[in-house]
Amino acid sequence: MKFLLLILVLQVTTSGAVSLTKHISLKENDEEVALCITKCIFFQTYLKNFYYFEMEKIPVTKMKTNENFMENKIQEMQQFLGLKVTGKLDTSTLNMMHTPRCGVTDVHHFKTMQGRPVWKKRLITYRINNYTPDMKRVDVDYAIQKAFQVWSDVTPLKFRKIDIGEADIMIRFAFGDHGDLYPFNDKDGVIAHAFGPGSGIGGDTHFNEAKMWTANSKGTNLFLVAVHEFGHSLGLQHSNDPKSIMFPNYSYVNPNTFHLSADDKRGIQSLYGGPEKYQPPSNPNSTESAACDPNLSFDAVTTVGDKIFLFKDRFFWWMLPESPRRGIGLISSLWPTLPSGIQAAYEIGARKQVFLFKDDQYWLISNLRLQQNYPKCIHSLGFPDYVKKIDAAVFNPLLQKTYFFVDHQFWRYDERRQLMDIGYPKWITKYFPRIGPKIDGVFYYNKHYYFYKGSNILVYDVRSLRVTKTLKNNVKFECQKQYY
Ligand SMILES: [Zn+2]
Ligand SMILES: [Zn+2]
Repeated sequence: MKFLLLILVLQVTTSGAVSLTKHISLKENDEEVALCITKCIFFQTYLKNFYYFEMEKIPVTKMKTNENFMENKIQEMQQFLGLKVTGKLDTSTLNMMHTPRCGVTDVHHFKTMQGRPVWKKRLITYRINNYTPDMKRVDVDYAIQKAFQVWSDVTPLKFRKIDIGEADIMIRFAFGDHGDLYPFNDKDGVIAHAFGPGSGIGGDTHFNEAKMWTANSKGTNLFLVAVHEFGHSLGLQHSNDPKSIMFPNYSYVNPNTFHLSADDKRGIQSLYGGPEKYQPPSNPNSTESAACDPNLSFDAVTTVGDKIFLFKDRFFWWMLPESPRRGIGLISSLWPTLPSGIQAAYEIGARKQVFLFKDDQYWLISNLRLQQNYPKCIHSLGFPDYVKKIDAAVFNPLLQKTYFFVDHQFWRYDERRQLMDIGYPKWITKYFPRIGPKIDGVFYYNKHYYFYKGSNILVYDVRSLRVTKTLKNNVKFECQKQYY
C-alpha cells in the first residue's frame, strides 16, 4: 500500500494543489520515501510512454476515482506483461518495468496502428541509413536481412534492400532527440521503436544508439530487436504472450534457433495471409513466355549427365553446354513424387548421382531414378539446426568435395568421408570474391563453377579462384512447348 500512497502524493503534486513535503513528512524513513518517489516518477513516465496515461488529465477533486484509476492502470499493465495482477507496484512489476523494451505503446491507442494499416504491395523496400559503430557493417546487413526474412518466410511479402533514395522502411541508429516526436532517453530503457505501415515516416525503424548492439548474447542483439520492430513496421502491435517476439520487453534467445511463435504467425498472417504457393499458370502459354523473359532467374541448377538442368517452380529447362539443343519439362514428368520449387541441386557425375534439395529435405536421383528411403533431412549431412534450407550446391570432382551455399555463408562436405569438413561455415564474400551474398544456383563444368545470380552468370575458375567472365542469363530458349 506504501507505493500506492506515494502515487497519490505524486498525482496531487502534479496538479500543484497539495504540497509534496507535507505528505512526505508523514513518513518516518526519509530514504525509503525518496526511493519510492523515484519509483513513482519512473512509473508515471512509464505509464505515460507505454500505456497512454496522462497524469495531468486526472481531476484532483476525484481522489477516490483516481486511486481506482491508478490501480486499474497498474492491473492493466500487469495483465499485459503477464505478471500477477495485484494492482500494486510490487517487486516483479518494477523489475519488469526496468528491463529494456520497445518504445511502442502496449495499449490499443498507438496512433500509427489504428485501422489495421498494412502495406498494399508485396515488395517492400528498406534502406539502412546509417550503421552503428558497435558492429561490423556486414553483420548489421546480415541481422537486418535475416530479420526481414523471418517475416517474408511466413507471408507473401518480399523485402529488397536499396542504398539510395527513399525506401518504404528507413532504418536508423539514433541518439536522444532524433527528429520524430519520440526522443530516446536512457532512463526509460527504450531500445528501439518503429512506425506502422504508411507513407513518410510510416514503416520507419529507429534503434537507440545509446545501446550496445551486437550479433550475439552480449548487449542488445540487433537481429532479435529488428524482428520485433519490423513486426510493427508491418502493422503488428504488442503481444502479451511472453513467447511472442512482439512482447514489448527484450529478452535474449539464440538467434540461430529463433522461430516465430504461433501468436506472431497468426498475427502477421491475419494481415497478409500465408506465403505464396506456386500457382499453376492459367494461360498454357505462360511457361513459354517465362522462358523468354530476359529477367528469368532460376531456383537451382545442376549438370545431369551431359545436360544442364535449370529448375524453376514446377519446371525444368535443360540444355547442352555447347549445342543449341534445349527443352523444357515438368519436374513431375520425370520424377512424379518430387515437389516443385527445388532450391538447390548438385551432381556427382562419376556416380551418376544427382541430389536435389528443398527446405530441410533432400532427394537422391541415381541413374535418373528417384531412390527409395528419401527424402532425408539435411541435418543428417551435418548442418546445424538453424540451417533451414540450402540456396545452392556444387560438387568439385577435383577435390571430391561439395560446397553448400546458405545465405551469406558456405559449408564444405567431404563426399569420400561422408562428413562435413570442420571449420565451416565461412563467408562467401571472403572465399569467393565477387560471388554472393546470396546465390540462386551453381553448377560445375570443365573446371569452372557457373554461379547463377538473378539474370547474371558468374564464371569462376576453380584453379585461379576468381571470376573470369560474367555472362547474361539470356538463355535463348525456343519459346515453344517442348516437354521432355
Ligand atoms: Zn514494440
Ligand atoms: Zn524515432
